[in-house]
Amino acid sequence: MAEEEISNEERQPSSGHQLPEQGDWVTGLHPMDGLLRGERLPHIWCQGCGLGTALTTFLGALQWLEKHQGWDLDKVCVVSGIGCTGRVAGYIRLDSFHTTHGRAIPFATGLKLANPELKVVVFSGDGDIAGIGGNHFIHAARRNLDITVICVNNFNYGMTGGQVGPTTPHGARAVTTPYGNFEYPFNLPYLAAAGGASFMARWTVLHVRRLEWTLREALGHPGFSFVEIIAPCSTSYARWNPDGWGLDPQKLRRRGLEVMKHYQKVGKIAHGTHPKDAAVKVDGRGVISEIPEGIFIDEPKPDLQASVDQITSIAKERWRAAQNALDARPPLPGRSDFVPRTEVQLGGFGGQGIMSAGRIIGQAATIYDKLQACFTQSYGPEARGGAAGSQVVIASDPIHHPHLIEPTSAIIMSTEACRKYVRKLAAGGTLLIDDGLVTLAEDHRRDLKTYGVPATRMAEEFGNVRAANAVMLGLWTAMIKAVSRAAMRQSLADEVPPKTLGVNLKAFDFGYAKGLQLQGR
Ligand code: SF4
Repeated sequence: MAEEEISNEERQPSSGHQLPEQGDWVTGLHPMDGLLRGERLPHIWCQGCGLGTALTTFLGALQWLEKHQGWDLDKVCVVSGIGCTGRVAGYIRLDSFHTTHGRAIPFATGLKLANPELKVVVFSGDGDIAGIGGNHFIHAARRNLDITVICVNNFNYGMTGGQVGPTTPHGARAVTTPYGNFEYPFNLPYLAAAGGASFMARWTVLHVRRLEWTLREALGHPGFSFVEIIAPCSTSYARWNPDGWGLDPQKLRRRGLEVMKHYQKVGKIAHGTHPKDAAVKVDGRGVISEIPEGIFIDEPKPDLQASVDQITSIAKERWRAAQNALDARPPLPGRSDFVPRTEVQLGGFGGQGIMSAGRIIGQAATIYDKLQACFTQSYGPEARGGAAGSQVVIASDPIHHPHLIEPTSAIIMSTEACRKYVRKLAAGGTLLIDDGLVTLAEDHRRDLKTYGVPATRMAEEFGNVRAANAVMLGLWTAMIKAVSRAAMRQSLADEVPPKTLGVNLKAFDFGYAKGLQLQGR
């Protein structure tokens, strides 16, 4: 039938996906026209390349899902990285994104998390997925992110001239390894399985129908699904390896065919094979001698979004319970007087509760005294026992800069912290130290008001050395008066374990009384 005799209706592909304007078509005859950007064709792929078949099977799977399962293809997005396979994103008439090298999966992750209703497919090559993007691949599998990753593996970096890649078989030749690859390749199914992929399969482009059926399953699988498609690279990889056709340019167009014949010979359908045993095998010359194929894993499990939803509902429940407990407490009067910007530096070593002390001040100010507060913290390179510091800014007015500009008071519980922080205190500021632990320098600043209390020793006497920070907080509350005593006691009760509350309150009250005493009140 001549082209002009075909009506528009007849041209509709079986899937019914909206056709482009006729001016965009290449031929108007191909059943995939509705899913291809005719204006971007002809494609750049070489004669005999397997990428055309890989793309056709993918589009066939989508058409089938649209026709038989009512998929809305406007909700399907395709993301590619860089390389020959990466061109897929440009040819496909869906929402598609051609991203940077190795970053297709992170892009797809953002796309999926922001639009959970979308079916997101990553369609890229082995260099992109397993080379520069390898880390993203294993983490997406680990999270069981609900996307489908289709990796066309042609065993080399084809687009850039045939360099050795992460899947080039051991001993196989490439433009950068003319005497044979000395590295061992990834076994992609095993890598995906170790990552935690819940669906995983491999076919060569020779197995068109099986590949299409598998792609339908992979696309419909909830969670991370991975399909490796082994395809001939007729121009680069096949030129270097005897499973292709060698270097004779006259035989260029037959290289792809020769590789396919070879795949037919060495392909071995083995559904359910343990991915560890699914490696592509080579003989002593690096020639592929066996390609296990089939669906290796199909074990649905909750995907990332389902896990996030579950944890979110638990968190919301706990937050509500905490909120209710807070609301049930007798309300505190709150501060009505003006409190100027007040900055306090806390310092000591890890394990003394320096961070907790800062948090207690911040919570007391905001939750109970209805003031504004900003709390920041810093650790030394060590954990417990290393230097630790925290900072709190309090004011009645909104705080526009969260860090300390000119601290007017400091709570210091180690000599090292004293050396580090005392120079930052404003002239005339108040320095409160645990004088059982802090040794002042001989040239200690005389422009500061320095007060000491043996906080750690007193806490030990009260029955818990870890209440030393509460002694210092009591002292600070009485002397600085930025936050009310009632608010501090309430905040302390929120922060410490219930069984230590008694000793902590006792320590706080001791420090508070000491502060009043030092001020002659
Ligand atoms: S270089 Fe290889 S992979 Fe790339 S289009 Fe050509 S044959 Fe295909």
